[in-house]
Amino acid sequence: MTTYVWGYLKEYEQEREDILDAVDTVFGSGNLVWGPRVGMFEEAFAAYHGVAHCAGVDNGTNAILLALLAMGVEPGDEVITVSNTAAPTVLAIDRVGAVPVFVDIDPDTYLMDVDQVAAAITDRTRVLLPVHLYGQCVDMAPLEALAERHGIQILEDCAQAHGARHHGRIAGSMGRAGAFSFYPTKVLGAYGHGGATVTSDPEVDAGLRRLRYYGMEEAAYYVVARNGLNARLDEVHAEILRRKLTRLDEYIAGRRAVAARYAEMLGGTDLVLPVTAPGNDHVYYVYVVRHPERDRIIQGMKEYDISLNISYPWPVHTQKGFAHFGVEKGALPVTEDLAGQIFSLPMYPSLTEPEQERIVEALHKTLGSL
Ligand SMILES: *Cc1c(COP(=O)(O)O)cnc(C)c1O
Repeated sequence: MTTYVWGYLKEYEQEREDILDAVDTVFGSGNLVWGPRVGMFEEAFAAYHGVAHCAGVDNGTNAILLALLAMGVEPGDEVITVSNTAAPTVLAIDRVGAVPVFVDIDPDTYLMDVDQVAAAITDRTRVLLPVHLYGQCVDMAPLEALAERHGIQILEDCAQAHGARHHGRIAGSMGRAGAFSFYPTKVLGAYGHGGATVTSDPEVDAGLRRLRYYGMEEAAYYVVARNGLNARLDEVHAEILRRKLTRLDEYIAGRRAVAARYAEMLGGTDLVLPVTAPGNDHVYYVYVVRHPERDRIIQGMKEYDISLNISYPWPVHTQKGFAHFGVEKGALPVTEDLAGQIFSLPMYPSLTEPEQERIVEALHKTLGSL
């Protein structure tokens, strides 16, 4: 029995007919990149979030990048975010010429420590960029109060939080805009690359639509209003995503069931299990646990043919490609300390109970041999 199958293969087995029908529908339609399917998905995705607008783009990185541009971020502006995130969050900020300002993370949830944000605000701050990491939302009320007081905007990085809720509100609907990725492993994944932004602000949406389309007005082809990118969502991904969106709540329920089983089976160990913050409905994009002997555990699990991921082993500010930000090692002690202890257990909706039992048994043996 293979324990660690890349999630989508099992899903494909289960959904093959529907996926292939989506592909055939688009391939036979005569429109591969600029047809009606993108709009149909956008409408459904906006409705799911209770917002007025959605713009499909080619990936999550560009969703963040284009949202920042559409929100008026300019070179030299500051964007407050975290270093414990996927590198794309920060490279999108860097790519528009803005400066990421990092705050440390909460030691229990590993999410943005919102108590540190006020002190990080300067007169160059334009955007607060909370990352709803691992599948649960950052505490939004303090950020919303700061944004209001200082006249700054909030962009939510929702790449790991499709369908997550925070005091009943859905991720992506709380800021001026929310950016999503549909990378295949995400809670809602395409069969290739994809992304989207959601917003209730028509100005941000219109800006985004222009920017993803070479900077042209959709209604005035060949007329460039502002230099943009070619960053559209393809028809085939849009149609697959539109169909998969109808199953998103099932995927989330599946992930929650897997998480509940881990919690039950690992409760007696000295692993620190995920903590859900008050008011959050977690969607468990990843199931992140913590142990001081992380590296030995990962090594030990290889003997059972189980490879475990780390999200993320190297905080963004410590990486060579981001050295120009000039953030010293030691500047974010909680982030840096936890990066050496966290790791993820296999998590996807179709993980079966026997598979999970095998993982947990291997984990018990590995922990016992430390
Ligand atoms: C996946 C991810 C992104 C980037 O999305 P891509 O589609 O891979 O470009 C951005 N932020 C976070 C937190 C992510 O997990």
